[in-house]
Amino acid sequence: MVTPPVDVSGPVIDLHSHTNASDGTLTPAELVALAKTKNLSSLAITDHDTFEGYEIAVPLAQASGLDLVRGIELNSRLLIEGSAQPRFVHILVYFPSRHPSEGFQSWLAEQRTDRRSRNAKLAKALQDRGVNITLQEVEARGRTLAGRPHFARILVEKGYVTNFEDAFHKYLGEDAPSYVERESNTTEEVIDLALQGGGIPVVAHPIRIGLARAVEHDVLTRFKQAGLVGLEVYHSDHPPALQQYYRVLADELELLPTGGSDFHGAVKPDTELGTGRAHNLRVPAEFLEGLRRFVQ
Ligand SMILES: [Zn+2]
Ligand SMILES: [Zn+2]
Repeated sequence: MVTPPVDVSGPVIDLHSHTNASDGTLTPAELVALAKTKNLSSLAITDHDTFEGYEIAVPLAQASGLDLVRGIELNSRLLIEGSAQPRFVHILVYFPSRHPSEGFQSWLAEQRTDRRSRNAKLAKALQDRGVNITLQEVEARGRTLAGRPHFARILVEKGYVTNFEDAFHKYLGEDAPSYVERESNTTEEVIDLALQGGGIPVVAHPIRIGLARAVEHDVLTRFKQAGLVGLEVYHSDHPPALQQYYRVLADELELLPTGGSDFHGAVKPDTELGTGRAHNLRVPAEFLEGLRRFVQ
């Protein structure tokens, strides 16, 4: 199959980016400035679990004439019958013209509180086992995402274990004596919460769910029935042929196509705002128009 070259006409937009309010490295002000340098006409800030970066960026974007879109990225648990391996699906939620409902905002605040208290319990359980670790250390690394991978990194650095796997096996995994359960919502629940909250739910970087194509097709069909609106067809992790595949799939399942770089700054230096990895991205402005039409 011959893949057509990435379309280079029209304005550049990017519907997936992170600031240092979650796990990116640029401040909201730096991100807005970079978007202007890159001549982006529209940018969505989609930090994990928080609108804080977006809110700081609003007046700055206004002042510089950048069309800024409110978004957020949420994690969810995918249930597949007969599969013991837990899988996770990232859901982007866009609010192109509406404010998120109060219910959605308080649900988010609750999520942050839950995460904090689970992390505090886990730090305490590890301290009880003689490990020198504090909640502050973990939160300094993970910000809104602080969780077991950050505990693992610290355990490796401090020499309690030699690698990540060992950290989970001995301290953090479900069979470890210090295990603290982490509840996460199912994908269907998150889709529903997004819709109830006035947002547009979109499955982010589907390639990362790691499913065989037939299973992926079934799962996305199921999500569509649960109210899913969009599919991120363009993403830095999707080579051109895969972008084309997801574009066709989105059409088939009647999902709105979206796209973005998933820019994180210095932690993912090969991913550039607007243009992705090695210029594999060019998100058409009509994708954003589609989202805007959806809520009208
Ligand atoms: Zn993601
Ligand atoms: Zn992301």
